[in-house]
Amino acid sequence: MAQSREWTRLSGEHRALIEEFQANESVAVGALAQRLGLRIKVANLGPGNSGQISRNADGGYIIKVNRFEAKERQRFTIAHEIAHFLLHRDIIDASPEGIRDTVLYRSGAPENIEYQANRLAADILMPRGSVERRLGELGGRVSEGVIEVLAQDFKVSKGAMEIRLQNVAA
Ligand SMILES: [Zn+2]
Repeated sequence: MAQSREWTRLSGEHRALIEEFQANESVAVGALAQRLGLRIKVANLGPGNSGQISRNADGGYIIKVNRFEAKERQRFTIAHEIAHFLLHRDIIDASPEGIRDTVLYRSGAPENIEYQANRLAADILMPRGSVERRLGELGGRVSEGVIEVLAQDFKVSKGAMEIRLQNVAA
């Protein structure tokens, strides 16, 4: 199963760093963000917003994540904002607000930017090789129960895992 275009666009250094964190099925996205030099703040972003990444006055970057959303959802949001950082730094830098994502991961930036960030976030949290291997251990057939087990293993929502499995199975 080929990696996404977004994954292949990353520098070798960034890919190696992410792969280091992927040694665990549950990727420590907070620690990964820190290794990339990003600060994370769990914040009150107002209803309808999931996350934001922006540049500070000191030139560093900060990810804010909605404190009222479920942990799995927050993990996906952090991975999505990391993806923006790795792929779309120019867009973040173009506005003092950076990129602010609604619950649907729409930001006002062109749609394809959001698809790219979602694909890379999925690659970070649910690497295809690991999902395929774990699926094989569970018998290789996708069912409600298997989706639930895999979602727990990778600490993602069932919805996110279901989408990933559609790609893996295809
Ligand atoms: Zn986004």
